[in-house]
Amino acid sequence: MRGMMMDMPLTTTSLIEHAARYHGDTEIVSRTIEGPIHRYTYGESYQRIKKLVNALGDLGVGEGDRVATLAWNGYRHFELYFAVSGMGAVCHTINPRLFGDQIIYIINHAKDKIIFVDLSFVPVLEGIAEQLDASIKIVVMTDQEHMPDSKLENSLCFEVLIDGQSDSYDWPDFEENTASSLCYSSGTTGNPKAVLYSHRSTVLHAMTACATDGLGISGQDIVLPVVPMFHVNAWGIPYACALSGAKLVFPGAGMDGASVCELLENEGVTFTAGVPTVWLLLLGYISENKKKLPDLERVIVGGAAVPQSMIEAFENDLDCRCIHAWGMTEMSPLGTLAHMKNNMKDMTPEDQMAYKVKQGRPVYGVDMKIVDDNDAELPHDGKAFGELLVRGPWVTNGYYEDEETSADSFDADGWFRTGDVSTIDERGFMQIVDRAKDVIKSGGEWISSIELENIAVGHPDIAEAGVIGVAHPKWDERPLLICVKSDGGAVTEAEMLEMYKGKVADWWIPNQVVFIDELPHTATGKIRKTELRKIFADHKLPA
Ligand code: ADP
Repeated sequence: MRGMMMDMPLTTTSLIEHAARYHGDTEIVSRTIEGPIHRYTYGESYQRIKKLVNALGDLGVGEGDRVATLAWNGYRHFELYFAVSGMGAVCHTINPRLFGDQIIYIINHAKDKIIFVDLSFVPVLEGIAEQLDASIKIVVMTDQEHMPDSKLENSLCFEVLIDGQSDSYDWPDFEENTASSLCYSSGTTGNPKAVLYSHRSTVLHAMTACATDGLGISGQDIVLPVVPMFHVNAWGIPYACALSGAKLVFPGAGMDGASVCELLENEGVTFTAGVPTVWLLLLGYISENKKKLPDLERVIVGGAAVPQSMIEAFENDLDCRCIHAWGMTEMSPLGTLAHMKNNMKDMTPEDQMAYKVKQGRPVYGVDMKIVDDNDAELPHDGKAFGELLVRGPWVTNGYYEDEETSADSFDADGWFRTGDVSTIDERGFMQIVDRAKDVIKSGGEWISSIELENIAVGHPDIAEAGVIGVAHPKWDERPLLICVKSDGGAVTEAEMLEMYKGKVADWWIPNQVVFIDELPHTATGKIRKTELRKIFADHKLPA
């Protein structure tokens, strides 16, 4: 027997229509590339989105075409999210921090028809223009007054394009599994891999983002996504804000502590999200300038493991909850969040902290298992660790136009192989032990590079730390700790090694500490371990 409920497709247009209709006077605030702070409302945004769709139609964009963006978080980028997907085309967000060759690969692989580019990234496109298909149209995301004197041929101006367009548009009907956006994972190994989201996956993910045990975004919130819109759709936050009518604050290119703090303070932000690196900058700025952010309630930290010291700094210095989260481009990205549970209320703060530093428990919609080398399931006892596999309605079922990689990425039952190694405890909290390719194999046992790194950055003199396995004649591999000192940091190798005593098994303690000026990073701000391994390929550990 079929249920008798309306069969309405879940589309991104339904999100922005809802925002325009019921939160039409709620603000969207943007720090612009041109300089000033821009303010308008969901209502005004929606009018411009419809003009933009009409302009895209005039440029020849049709259903299924890929329209790329190379842009910071801002209102024009937000408009593109909804205009492009809403007309049945695919919004492809390019990460401008990728290397030139990777950007060329991505644009050619996606067969982008148009690229919308922020003023700051015009030079990026100029540098690679010769290697792109000459038919690709370029639109600079600014007004006539700020159009750059660019080498790019035939570049168009965003505001000129939409000026004079009609703000009425009949959204096409399509099936909810239609593709809506495309995002490439940064490809720490090999070429970037393309993840193609659907309208349905995007809306379901947005609903979860608004759940209390998800990101908890609501109509009462003022939300600053520091995580870039070119990084897994800013973790889905723009969609979740439209769904809930939260006020949005876009930071533009200002990711430094002072700029982020200024927006948090002036706009009364209650919720923000980003990677640990940006929070280190913010916390540094806040402690130097004795800032308090009384409106700020929750900070999500994801993309890399959060050190305990960071959770404590947010809790103690800013009286704000710091929630650890884990996910992947392939998962839209939400997988787990370290929210406490009702039966954990009576735990001591120390015991709770042991859970807060874990990557967290799955939200409804994400199922997970850990397996050994033969794909046999391991127990959820918080001790056994193996590769983490996931499935769910916002998890990819294969990379776009990449059968070879897709073939290796799923088990026999269709679960996605995350490439992360983790434990899952009795309460359902998952903890990443390492990336499968980063674990250090010493004497047949595994050492977690992440755990050693977390301990190292717990030292006030250490700004950043990376641990890699270095060849060892007896043990196969042994850990080498590579650190960047914070300004004025004076810690010695011996002091660093001493710090590990009692915190990990003796055989986990790194064999050596080297201090360098800077660590190599990926385009998403993670330490580029492949590069570190190259740099230290011939390194000899002291006997
Ligand atoms: P990429 O950096 O390759 O573009 P993603 O941004 O999709 O990829 O990153 C996904 C990976 O980032 C995860 O598989 C995991 O290794 C790592 N990651 C994400 N969140 C966390 C976290 N909270 N703790 C540790 N690692 C994390």
